[in-house]
Amino acid sequence: MASGCEWMTKAVMTAALGAALAACGAPAGQAPEPIALDSASLSETELGGRLSQAITFETISDREDPRASWDAFEAFRAWLAETHPMIFSRMQVEDLGHGTLWFTLEGRNRGLRPAVFIAHQDVVPVEPGTEGNWMHPPFGGVIANGQVWGRGALDMKGHLVALMGAMESLLTDGFEPERTLHIGLGHDEEVGGRGAQSMAAWLEARGQRAWFVLDEGGMIIEDSPFTGGPVALIGVAEKGFLTVEVTARARGGHSSTPPQQTSIALMAEAIARIQNAPFDMSLEGGPGREMFRALAPHMGGMAGFAAARPGLMGFLIEGELKKEDAGRAMLGTTIAPTVISGGTVMNVLPQETRLLVNLRLHPRDTGESALAHLRAAVAGLEGVSVEPYEAWSDPPGVAAMDGPAWDIIAGAAASAAGPETPVAPYLMVATTDLRHFADVADNLYRFMAARVHMADLDGIHGDNERIALSNLPLAADYFRTVIRAAGEDAES
Ligand SMILES: [Zn+2]
Repeated sequence: MASGCEWMTKAVMTAALGAALAACGAPAGQAPEPIALDSASLSETELGGRLSQAITFETISDREDPRASWDAFEAFRAWLAETHPMIFSRMQVEDLGHGTLWFTLEGRNRGLRPAVFIAHQDVVPVEPGTEGNWMHPPFGGVIANGQVWGRGALDMKGHLVALMGAMESLLTDGFEPERTLHIGLGHDEEVGGRGAQSMAAWLEARGQRAWFVLDEGGMIIEDSPFTGGPVALIGVAEKGFLTVEVTARARGGHSSTPPQQTSIALMAEAIARIQNAPFDMSLEGGPGREMFRALAPHMGGMAGFAAARPGLMGFLIEGELKKEDAGRAMLGTTIAPTVISGGTVMNVLPQETRLLVNLRLHPRDTGESALAHLRAAVAGLEGVSVEPYEAWSDPPGVAAMDGPAWDIIAGAAASAAGPETPVAPYLMVATTDLRHFADVADNLYRFMAARVHMADLDGIHGDNERIALSNLPLAADYFRTVIRAAGEDAES
């Protein structure tokens, strides 16, 4: 995405200025009230050592065989118990299957909705052939240059270690909450999230609805493309996904006497029609407007002027975002043809050509509405059908961006990020375990207080994944503050 100062041309600025000036004053940004951080008193050395050890367990999830890394998960669980004795003795611990752990700290007031903190234990494998790109072995847990290196450092054993450390420290201090608190550690987020499904089923079976669930996603981005400086981004929404199979059928036979439309030519037409029928791209229906309002004071110039008025001048922001791949992903449902097959022999007409199209659903859309959109795009093309390829996942609802739960999540983030750093909600374009909680929670948030650069994010599922040691105590303090505030809140 282009930087904040570049992404508005002078011509557009001038055109917009008249309309903008006609409006009344800029709406105030929704800066959350900072909540002072409650220190977990855990040092970089202590937490860095824990993360280093955590990385050495090769807890790689496998879609086909959930037991493939069973020994690693067993050993990781034993290590967790050894390292967090208070959690394993004071909290009720349940194995929800395949090593997904569910911890319960019963609150004094059973009438309050529980708060849930989740993290996944599993990691993705290192792509074969890329081992040599790593500066330190991916499962070595090496600490060097102020960073902990290895698969899972950011996604998400760093988060997990900080979260567990925070709860351990609270329990050591005799913490007894009003509200029931849960920690859920899934075993297979990277390959579907059956672990998270079983956590949601646990709540559902007891007729419970969580006040909020906090998981991975947002962080403090030091070099935000929008402001050029640090921004704390809290994920309040994420995209859903739908894969469809498009099939084009036509007469087969010898290629010496082809029909006017072969199945491949028909498919080409179908693809062109789908590509020419993009979904709406706008700031509506997601956290886009709130995000730009929060960032506006830090964007400066005309970009900031427009961002402060997303209702009136949203079209300008949208226009600029549409020019970038990442911007379009923020604004709407995306369409990506990913797999195609048809024909095997040079002189034989294939009777069938098939295409998979992967869609990432904006919160405005559902699997149902997206399917209808694609079918409308190819309507009238005889021989072409569009069917879901597998079960889809609707985008979960957008979490509150004001009110008590947001005040805690964002207020503690504001303290962690510091007074000069804006805290803004955003739409996560990747998926998390949270989608499985859509029906059993009021608010789904994605955040960890860690300062990272955009380049660090390439390590997620990529090479040289790492996290700065200094982030670990910060994240632990953040989690401790949120757990405590949520646990002590007796009204929401
Ligand atoms: Zn993850």
